[in-house]
Amino acid sequence: MSFSHLGLSEKVLAAVAATGYKTPTPIQEQAIPHVLARRDVLGIAQTGTGKTAAFVLPMLTMLETGRARARMPRTLILEPTRELAAQVEESFIKYGANHNKLNVALIIGGVSFDDQDAKLMRGVDVLIATPGRLLDHNERGRLLLSGVELLVIDEADRMLDMGFIPDIERICKLVPFTRQTLFFTATMPPEIRRITEQFLSNPVRVEVSRPATTVATTTQFLARSGRDGAEKRDTLRRLIRSAEGMKNAIIFCNRKRDVATLHRSLLRHGFSVQALHGDMDQSARTAALEQFRKNEVTLLVASDVAARGLDIPDVSHIYNFDVPIHPDDYVHRIGRTGRAGRAGTAITIVAGSNDAKAVAAIEKLIGQTIPFMDKIAGTSAEPQIEPRHEPRQAARPPHRGRHEHQRRPQQPERRPPPQQQPAPVARIEDARPRRAPQPVRKPMDDGDASHLPAFLLRPVTLKA
Ligand code: AMP
Repeated sequence: MSFSHLGLSEKVLAAVAATGYKTPTPIQEQAIPHVLARRDVLGIAQTGTGKTAAFVLPMLTMLETGRARARMPRTLILEPTRELAAQVEESFIKYGANHNKLNVALIIGGVSFDDQDAKLMRGVDVLIATPGRLLDHNERGRLLLSGVELLVIDEADRMLDMGFIPDIERICKLVPFTRQTLFFTATMPPEIRRITEQFLSNPVRVEVSRPATTVATTTQFLARSGRDGAEKRDTLRRLIRSAEGMKNAIIFCNRKRDVATLHRSLLRHGFSVQALHGDMDQSARTAALEQFRKNEVTLLVASDVAARGLDIPDVSHIYNFDVPIHPDDYVHRIGRTGRAGRAGTAITIVAGSNDAKAVAAIEKLIGQTIPFMDKIAGTSAEPQIEPRHEPRQAARPPHRGRHEHQRRPQQPERRPPPQQQPAPVARIEDARPRRAPQPVRKPMDDGDASHLPAFLLRPVTLKA
């Protein structure tokens, strides 16, 4: 099947050809003809399946006729996060390269109302919005949704996780009853099913599994760690330093505050790292993402919400600093690597019995067992990552100081005497800009003992 059989316009086909895509992905092949036939579509698809183009390409075709009026957008796309909204805008720019007269506006929080208002005033063909800011504009009387012919609700299950469903329901009641609705979700929890039954009209259901490439080309491991934050951070540093073929990595935490803590800790340890979480203002989030995309930083610590659906090609490693609470999030997280047939590695830190339970749920979902690294290395007698009860100083070479980036990385599984460190497999440090020494922080504020002089870390033999 080629794109030319889907009913897309010549302008759209030319833009698709210019991007280099040869064949439509399954979601594109199945959804596009129905969208063009003005049917409601319920798309059950994850990110990485090509679902953005599945709605952007037919929308561009349909918008070639008609004109926008001031304050009355013709189409509306709802996204759960600002980053996803910005990414969809980029898709319109890429695929709409031959649609010069098309007005696309982004209405997201964290940026000035006035600029957005000016754009709405000029008339908008495609409005891409996060729900809260959209409703703010509507309540101020700056935006009328009564002209919306097509509504896209993207990443609906993520909207549910973020508490946006009441906003979505309000917005669905503000757009005309006769509009066409395209609804995308990765999973169908009961609340999402209820929304689809209420707001979709006789939809065509299109379901695609996650791209096989991610699973086939991503090597997955578990790594044991002690449970407290400092031990987990220590484990993570070892994993990063010993990584093979490390180009760049995303490190996922379950909570925003842990993203910030881990980011600070990695910076202190000399890593080249940025953070991405929902409490950062928009310009900081955009800047962090851009730095990571351009390989100006090697590591990105992120929360699920902030990282959901981000299209960052060619990430070599994923680290789950926390086991995700929802098994679906695991699939989303590891979907950031192993893209387009490239090799990737995903390592999940497992600390304690609750984590083990969460891993069991993930294994059930993905239908495969994820091996522990120690078993893989054939050193099950000596786990690669030191167990929780092991004294921390045993894992640290005595000369270890604050500026670890100046040292050679070590293999965590075999701890050689300090003089005989093995040649590093991958030196992430090499890729990092050297940092100036950091100011000394007050002791123990991240529970880490790396600021202590070596003699304080040596085991003390007590005489009876
Ligand atoms: P999405 O699921 O929309 O986030 O898309 C995931 C990635 O697939 C993006 O990098 C797209 O540029 C890419 N993509 C979308 N459609 C195609 C296609 N037909 N052929 C190859 N790559 C595609």
